[in-house]
Amino acid sequence: MKQINHFINGEFVLSADNKQFGKRSPVDHRIIAQISEAGKVDVDLAVKAARTALKGEWGQFTMEQRVDILYGVADEITRRFDDFVEAEMADTGQPKAVMTHAFIPRGAANFKIFADVIKNVPSESFQTTTPDGLGALNYSIRVPKGVIGVISPWNAPFLLMTWKVGPALACGNTVVVKPSEETPLTATLLGEVMNTVGVPKGVFNVVHGFGPDSAGEFLTHHSNVDAITFTGETCTGTAIMKAASEGMRDVSFELGGKNAGIVFADSDFDKAVDGIYRSSFLNSGQVCLGTERVYVERPIFEKFVAALKKKVEQVRYGRPDDKEANYGPLISHEHQAKVLSYYEKAVEEGATVVIGGGVPTVPDELKHGAWVEPTIWTGLGENATIMKEEIFGPCCHITPFDEEQQVINWANDTKYGLSTTIWTGDLSRAHRVAAKIEVGISWINSWFLRDLRTAFGGSKQSGIGREGGVHSLEFYTETRNICVKL
Ligand code: NAD
Repeated sequence: MKQINHFINGEFVLSADNKQFGKRSPVDHRIIAQISEAGKVDVDLAVKAARTALKGEWGQFTMEQRVDILYGVADEITRRFDDFVEAEMADTGQPKAVMTHAFIPRGAANFKIFADVIKNVPSESFQTTTPDGLGALNYSIRVPKGVIGVISPWNAPFLLMTWKVGPALACGNTVVVKPSEETPLTATLLGEVMNTVGVPKGVFNVVHGFGPDSAGEFLTHHSNVDAITFTGETCTGTAIMKAASEGMRDVSFELGGKNAGIVFADSDFDKAVDGIYRSSFLNSGQVCLGTERVYVERPIFEKFVAALKKKVEQVRYGRPDDKEANYGPLISHEHQAKVLSYYEKAVEEGATVVIGGGVPTVPDELKHGAWVEPTIWTGLGENATIMKEEIFGPCCHITPFDEEQQVINWANDTKYGLSTTIWTGDLSRAHRVAAKIEVGISWINSWFLRDLRTAFGGSKQSGIGREGGVHSLEFYTETRNICVKL
C-alpha cells in the first residue's frame, strides 16, 4: 500500500501524531493509499519552513535564476509525464485521455508560462512637478507577498494546484499547499520534482488533510501565512474569507458556477452539439466551467435534445486505462450521493428525464465505484432547484428560448458568474450577447479554450480577483512606490 506523507522543508514526513486516513479509488472504492493527516504542529512546521526559505537562498535568487528553475520544474514534469498521468488517474478515476491531453500538460505549462510572464513585466514610473521646479521621479517595484497558502480542489487537481504554485514561485514567494483530501498524489510527486531540480528547501511545502478542523483550517488560520489562494466551493470560500480577515490577509478565490450554454438556431449544429456535450459531460461533469443550464433556440430545440441524447448513449463506463471506456466515475461516494439527490429533486419538481437519472449498470468489479449516469432533463422552469444550485455532476437541463434578450436574462438569473458558451453563426450577435453575460469568461463557438496569459476568474459569487498572465501579479506581489526628489 502506498504511503503518502507531507512534504516539509524538502523532506517527506509523517504527521507528528502519526494520524492517517485511507484514500479510496473512485472506480471501485478500494483503499489505494494511506495519507498522513496534518495537525496544527505539522502545518506550523510547514509554514515555518516557508517563512525561513523566504529569507534564505530563495530570497537571494535573481529573477533569471527563478525563471531557470521553473523551466526545470516544467521539464522534469514532462520527463515524468507517465508517473503524473498514473497518479492523477488513480486519484480521480477519469479516462487517461483527459490526463494526457489536458490536465498534466497544462500543469507543466503553468510553470513555463509564469516564468515567461515574470521576465516581461514592465515597471511604471511618473515624473512629478514640484514647487522648486526640479521635480520628482516616482517608480514602482514589485516584491513577493511572502508565504502563500494554496488550497486546491479535486476535480482537476494537478492543473489547478500548479495554476497557483507556478505564479507564486515565479514572483518569489514560498508556498504551503493543501491539496484536496480526495486527490493527494500529484502534489506529492511535485515535491519529488522540486527536489530533483534543486528548488531550495522550504520553498514548496505540502500538507495533507481535510478542511474543517484539519490541515485546511489550520493553514488558513495560521497567522504567518500572508495570503491565501483558494479554488473550491463558494461556501468554503466564505469560511476561508473569515479566516483571512484575521490579520487582514489577501485572498484570491476561484469558486463555484452555474454556467449557461446558449445555442442559436443559426449555429453550426454538429459543432454546437459536440461543444455542449463536452461542456456538460467532460470529467463526468466535474468541471467548474461546465454547462448545467443549456438554452436552445426553439426552431432547433427538439433536434438538439435528440442529438445530445444520442451522444450520451455512446458513453462507455470503465477504468481510466480501459481503451474501450470514455467515461469515469464521480470522485467519491459522498459526491455521488449529492449528485443523485439532485437527480431525485429534478424528478420531484417535474422534470422530464431525457436520458440517465440514476446509477448505471457496470461490470461487477466496478460496482462499488461512485458511478452515476450522465443525465439530460427538460421541462423545468427557471426557479427549479437544479436550475439554481451547482450540482457539479454529469447533467444538464435544456430549455427552449425565443428571443435574444430573454436568454440573456435567464443566463444572468443566478448568484454565480463564472462562464458561458455561446453558439451562433452571427458574429455581431456573438459579441453583443457575450458582452452582456455577467461572467468572467465567455466562449463563442468553443469551450474550455484559454490562453493562460489572459485574466481568469469569476463574477458575483464565483470568485474574487483574477489570475492568469500579468493579472496574477496583482495577487502574488505587492507593489511598492519609491519617490526620488530630483
Ligand atoms: P471544496 O470547497 O469542498 O474543497 C476545496 C478545498 O478546500 C479542499 O482542499 C478542502 O479540503 C478545502 N477545505 C474545505 N473546507 C475548508 C475549510 N473550512 N478551511 C480550509 N480549507 C477547506 O471544493 P471541492 O469539492 O474540492 O471542489 C469542487 C468545487 O470547486 C466546485 O464548487 C467547483 O465549482 C469549484 N471549482 C472552481 C473552479 C474555478 O476556477 N472557479 C475550478 C475548479 C473547481
